[in-house]
Amino acid sequence: TLILSFESSCDETSVAVIKNGNKILSNIIATQIKSHQRFGGVVPEVASRHHVEEITKCIQMAMDEAEVSYDDLDAVAVTYGPGLVGSLLIGIMAAKTVAFAHNLPLIKSNHLAGHIYSASFVTELKYPFMALLVSGGHTELVYVKAPGDFETLGDTRDDAVGEAYDKIGRVLGINYPAGKEVDRLAGIGKDTFNFPRAMVQEDNLDFSFSGLKSAFINTVHHADQVHEELNKADLAASFQGAVLDILVNKTFRALKTHPVQQLVVAGGVAANQGLRKRLASEIETRKLDMDLIFPPLRLCGDNAAMIGAIAQIQYDKKDFADLTVNADPSLDF
Ligand code: ATP
Ligand code: MG
Ligand code: FE
Repeated sequence: TLILSFESSCDETSVAVIKNGNKILSNIIATQIKSHQRFGGVVPEVASRHHVEEITKCIQMAMDEAEVSYDDLDAVAVTYGPGLVGSLLIGIMAAKTVAFAHNLPLIKSNHLAGHIYSASFVTELKYPFMALLVSGGHTELVYVKAPGDFETLGDTRDDAVGEAYDKIGRVLGINYPAGKEVDRLAGIGKDTFNFPRAMVQEDNLDFSFSGLKSAFINTVHHADQVHEELNKADLAASFQGAVLDILVNKTFRALKTHPVQQLVVAGGVAANQGLRKRLASEIETRKLDMDLIFPPLRLCGDNAAMIGAIAQIQYDKKDFADLTVNADPSLDF
């Protein structure tokens, strides 16, 4: 099965050709980060305009690189939410157009399900499995019972973890998106500030990062006022230490009641080196017989390959959409 897939939910325009849900023939990603950096975040109107400019080029490049023709395709898939409505609509319109012009079935896919299924490119998934979804807009523990069958066990009550990285990074003077650089600094610093680990004593699977973010910002502002110079690497390491303690605590709490053979970590923050090391060592310490699956770095952020992976599952179920598909900006599982 060959699926042409589209992703345009935020600030990446991406088009991919995916074979059987697990082989990437092409995965073109046009990022707009430079255009948004001077605003310190994604500006929706700017994002939409970029998608309009990029999408036809991305389609052409994806088809060329995959060396396939439209006759070879079996379906067209597109992210319909969650995300920015204007951005989503560009991908949706393009996908509808290709589907209509070439008489191909259309599949509407959930961006978050796509992030989770980016693990399909690493290994064969065995059900049920657990997914820790950590991205710019979401922080969730998701129990995946069967192909495409998701149950959210825990969610964030306020900020998403990626969002927290971006906000504290800004205070450290790091460009948007700050996650990667905070992660690098954390790797060379020490956890000396002892920031709060919210809700880790509570017997539930929910997350909270706004208190940690406030504690971090207050610490930096207070030091500014008294003209004290704080060590940036130690600040980053202290922030990351708290984040990892929270993520680890809730993930293993979930695994106690829902034991699985595979733990998938997905979304932009799955690129975090500290998180990768910490989860691996926790599994070893706890002597758990469970595989830890991280997508390759290029597939942690937004991309259309992951949409081709979840779309394959929908294709197998004949879960097709019609040309009335609309964007759903606040879609969840
Ligand atoms: P969502 O998927 O929830 O709709 P999104 O698509 O904007 O949101 P992603 O593209 O999946 O989010 O992830 C982007 C986020 O990942 C940013 O907040 C970025 O700072 C963060 N990030 C990227 N690399 C790292 C890293 N190494 N450590 C921590 N965070 C990181
Ligand atoms: Mg992005
Ligand atoms: Fe995303």
